[in-house]
Amino acid sequence: MKWWGWGDEGVSFTHTDKPALAPFIKLHLGLDIEAKTSRPVAFDDLRIPDSSLEPSLRSALEGAVGSERVSTDPLDRVVHARGKCLRDLVRHRRGELGRVPDVVVRPDDEDEVAAVLRVALDADAVLIPFGGGTNISGSLEAPESETRPVISVDTGLMDRVLEIDEESRLARVQAGVLGPQLEEQLNARGWTVGHFPDSFTHSTLGGWIATRSSGMQSDKYGDVADLTRAVRVVTPSGILATRPVPHTSTGPSVREMVLGSEGRLGIITEATVHVHRVPERRTILGYLFPSWPEALAAMREIAESEASPSVTRVSDAAETRFSFATRKEPSLLDRLKSKVLQTYLERRRNFDLEAMCLSFIGYEGTKDHVAAQRKLVGKIVSRHDGLSVGSGPGQLYDQKKFDTPYIRDYLLDRGAPGDVSETSAPWSALSTLYDNVTEAAHRAFDELGVRGYIMCHLSHSYHAGACLYFTFAFKPSGRRDVLEEYDVVKDAIQQTFVDSGATLSHHHAVGTEHAKWLDQDISGPGVAMLRSLFDGVDPGANLNPGKIV
Ligand SMILES: Cc1cc2nc3c(=O)[nH]c(=O)nc-3n(C[C@H](O)[C@H](O)[C@H](O)COP(=O)(O)OP(=O)(O)OC[C@H]3O[C@@H](n4cnc5c(N)ncnc54)[C@H](O)[C@@H]3O)c2cc1C
Repeated sequence: MKWWGWGDEGVSFTHTDKPALAPFIKLHLGLDIEAKTSRPVAFDDLRIPDSSLEPSLRSALEGAVGSERVSTDPLDRVVHARGKCLRDLVRHRRGELGRVPDVVVRPDDEDEVAAVLRVALDADAVLIPFGGGTNISGSLEAPESETRPVISVDTGLMDRVLEIDEESRLARVQAGVLGPQLEEQLNARGWTVGHFPDSFTHSTLGGWIATRSSGMQSDKYGDVADLTRAVRVVTPSGILATRPVPHTSTGPSVREMVLGSEGRLGIITEATVHVHRVPERRTILGYLFPSWPEALAAMREIAESEASPSVTRVSDAAETRFSFATRKEPSLLDRLKSKVLQTYLERRRNFDLEAMCLSFIGYEGTKDHVAAQRKLVGKIVSRHDGLSVGSGPGQLYDQKKFDTPYIRDYLLDRGAPGDVSETSAPWSALSTLYDNVTEAAHRAFDELGVRGYIMCHLSHSYHAGACLYFTFAFKPSGRRDVLEEYDVVKDAIQQTFVDSGATLSHHHAVGTEHAKWLDQDISGPGVAMLRSLFDGVDPGANLNPGKIV
């Protein structure tokens, strides 16, 4: 993982193979994308604070995991200092590193994790579990004022599927496994967890659980909170273990307390998760709707119907236009097809192409199941004046979804912040929520006197509502610090979420980025309850202090 940005060294987003993108960005942000105006500081020029690890603590940690797995290497420490939220990226690129951990340790089983925790508590050190470092809520950074030694516990060596109970469709898995490692081990035996967040390539099972993550196919497989049946956690008072039973009546759910705990209750070493047979067929179809209200209504009706697609996702008109602008150079045949489709939509279907919304709906299962599902969904789509545009756009989306995250670094190279804010609300509130948020963002752009863009998609449908996922970017005014201007926009969006009855985040957790809205979301007594939980489990505030509350 790059220390200053997303993904693998040498991989980046480019506009050069997307002919419509430069004019699109020029039009909406006033940004000349040919000109790179900002680069991360060179690693050799970073002023990395020296590690304050005392020899006695080092040797105790070496006793716990072995000397080769205790690292004070500067690059290692910088990579483990933060996650990947916009504020993390901007400050890292500038060389403002904050409170870098003093040491990174890499236990490879639960006993070693327990030994590290004992050492940390004995030394009154701070211990921060690190999965893939991909969170975007400020869930990893030690407080700037922290004077105690800070230990980052990288779980990456705990990467094995330990057991599959085929009869119960459950797998016991070590928490440090990355998405691709997990799927590879399960697929080899015909199984899948089906959890595919956009950060899949670089995030871990433990991180997903600790942040209550959601994957693209949550409509079928559930969010991580649904698919995690049991957890094992090393806590200050011993190993917390819950049983992998389908349901239990043991009082408030301890398993649920661990879900979303962001390292504040201990280190998750293992989880038992639902697994499913790898489906015989998997397809994602594209659909077009004439407008956002029709598209929203169709998604709601699909959720209410007997259809059970694995993905239901629809972009608003702004995101649809952006998607079209990121298409690669089309062939002559593609251009002809697209012209024919445009003419058909405008003349025969009375579509306003500027208001049109692109949707992806995924189907999985046997051939017959997929065919039956497509038919059910097709009828609902038609009732809302939509139409199928086949599997081409869906395949393209499926292929490029893990590349899109690189776009934030691309925009930052051109001086423009771009970020996301996501939420969920009941179906009855979604339309107003959407209007409120887009208005609030545009008001914030106007207040700053900047050109900005906001777009949205609906994904993750449930019985009672869905997630709305907003993406925004703007060209900073140059009059104020870029992070100050970013906060004006981000705060306006987040505040509108809670003011409109929605949650502060559907799947990106609280961290430090969203903590100030927590009492408005779960009420004062709710926050007090969480505080008591953290204080009770971790009276010395040694476990990732300052996150969530
Ligand atoms: C480009 C991009 C796309 C993203 N897309 C999605 C998406 O589609 N869906 C989604 O849900 N999220 C998404 N995220 C957010 C992020 O990937 C998730 O929050 C993810 O679950 C974090 O996992 P991680 O392994 O990287 O955890 P980290 O970032 O390493 O840690 C996150 C938090 O969990 C704690 N933690 C990690 N491992 C453990 C453990 N074993 N025990 C106890 N605590 C632990 C850490 O201390 C920290 O507080 C995206 C992020 C980026 C940058």
